[in-house]
Amino acid sequence: MPKVLVADKINEKGVEVLEGSAEIVNNPKITPEELLETIDQYDAIIVRSRTKMTKEVIENAKNLKIIARAGVGVDNIDLDAATDNGILVVNAPQSTSITVAEHAMGLMLALSRKIAIADASVKAGKWEKSKFMGMELRNKTLGVIGMGRIGSQVVKRSKAFEMDVIVYDPYISEDAAKELGVEIVSLDELITKADVMTIHVPLTPETKGLISKEQLAKMKDHAILLNCARGGIINEKDLYEALKERPDLKAGLDVYENEPLENSPLTTLDNVVLTPHIAASTKEAQRDAAIIVAKQVKEVLNGQTPSNVLNMPLVDSETFQQLKPYFELTKKLGQILVQTTTSNISELNIVYSGKITGRSKEPLTRELLKEFLNPILTEPVNSVNAKSVAKQRGIKLTEGETDDSGNYDATIKINVKYDDKEMTIEGTVENDEVKVISIDDYDVNLNLEGLMGIIKYVDLPGTIGKIGKVLGDYKINIAEMKVGRKSEGGEAVMVIKVDQEITDEVISELESTKDIDSVKSVKL
Ligand code: NAD
Repeated sequence: MPKVLVADKINEKGVEVLEGSAEIVNNPKITPEELLETIDQYDAIIVRSRTKMTKEVIENAKNLKIIARAGVGVDNIDLDAATDNGILVVNAPQSTSITVAEHAMGLMLALSRKIAIADASVKAGKWEKSKFMGMELRNKTLGVIGMGRIGSQVVKRSKAFEMDVIVYDPYISEDAAKELGVEIVSLDELITKADVMTIHVPLTPETKGLISKEQLAKMKDHAILLNCARGGIINEKDLYEALKERPDLKAGLDVYENEPLENSPLTTLDNVVLTPHIAASTKEAQRDAAIIVAKQVKEVLNGQTPSNVLNMPLVDSETFQQLKPYFELTKKLGQILVQTTTSNISELNIVYSGKITGRSKEPLTRELLKEFLNPILTEPVNSVNAKSVAKQRGIKLTEGETDDSGNYDATIKINVKYDDKEMTIEGTVENDEVKVISIDDYDVNLNLEGLMGIIKYVDLPGTIGKIGKVLGDYKINIAEMKVGRKSEGGEAVMVIKVDQEITDEVISELESTKDIDSVKSVKL
């Protein structure tokens, strides 16, 4: 049974998901030393933010297949080291969406109804009813900046408050906006129209300082600005000046440029509500994070692909279905190449054609590299680390595509440069059969299976007979044969399926025969 280490305290509902399918070791107080010493025993680890999955720990994790972060941020995990060692890293970004959206709604109400300062006033023994005149949210315009997981939950909740919603998000489609019944506007329009503005974008070079002096100056009278996303998206110094100058403006912040917030002039203002980065902190979010990552651990241990992989590009399910028949093809082409192009591989060029073009072929490329590299390396190569291992080995990988797939629905053509030679092989899938259709641009058409031989020879009368005789002498039966040539008397290729293996002895006898250039034996 696979072994899973739960290295930080997670909700028991997550552990329940794994019960019965793995041996679970609950050690939420494990020290860094103990972790380093014992990590090689485990197939999976679940962490929160306490446990540090450093390069050193990851390099010792010889059996580890997955690092699961029961939460969102992965600052405690060395992603590059995990990728290089073929370990998947997953998290649970969707676990906090509703929790954060509710916090944004909470800040919105706290500011529109002055709840925080009214509370402080009552606790100070005062009764200042007239001071805390509020603003209804109904019929007000909510401007949502970033309509991803959290932004769209805010939109849903604000509809119950009968708010009109406008959105600034240059990366979402018209359809997504229509589905949520929101209007997409420019940032400028949003700022000038919104009564409440709420930020739900990631912190990127593009969003850093997105709301600064210039934007703050355009805010409507009595407008509210909320940030439950990341510090730095609002320029804090500019915000402080704007709020000080215009007491009608209000801000609600959960995140800051520097955390914890220390000696900030924002704490001196009445028109601001500050929370200590707690928007995602609810029991429900923690429970959901534990369940989401435990499910992904279970999937990986069952050989399936989880949904929130951070270090391997995934494709949507429609693309995956389209690519599915071609996995076997890339696998077999990779196996042929590793058995025929032995040393000093410098370049690998893959060209996809036909109906598999126009979408990501990433999983196919990784499958090919995996088959191609695994037999020659000690460390296991899998779909996660395949590209980085190829790069480390100095293999220049290029991928391309063409519409022209000849008479086939789709083809995959691979060219490998090795030593001072090269080899090109092209395959397809026809009626669920995986086939090679050309080798070095010589047409051959044969199902890829079992024991095979690839023989290059000069197309002269009697050469095929010579090949047959040597194989016959060694009691090797040819089950099927295809030959391809470009011109009479020139170089030709023979691909054969045989019932007995073509051994090294047979290869050297064939290669010492006149007009036979090279012989490769392949086992699929
Ligand atoms: P998401 O990736 O689902 O959505 C982000 C949205 O922002 C996407 O729709 C994207 O198109 C949009 N976007 C990206 N760049 C943009 C730009 N320049 N202008 C406008 N829109 C842009 O992310 P999410 O899960 O909804 O998280 C949103 C934010 O909340 C992130 O910053 C995340 O780190 C933060 N967050 C904070 C807490 C907390 O504790 N306060 C917890 C969880 C998430």
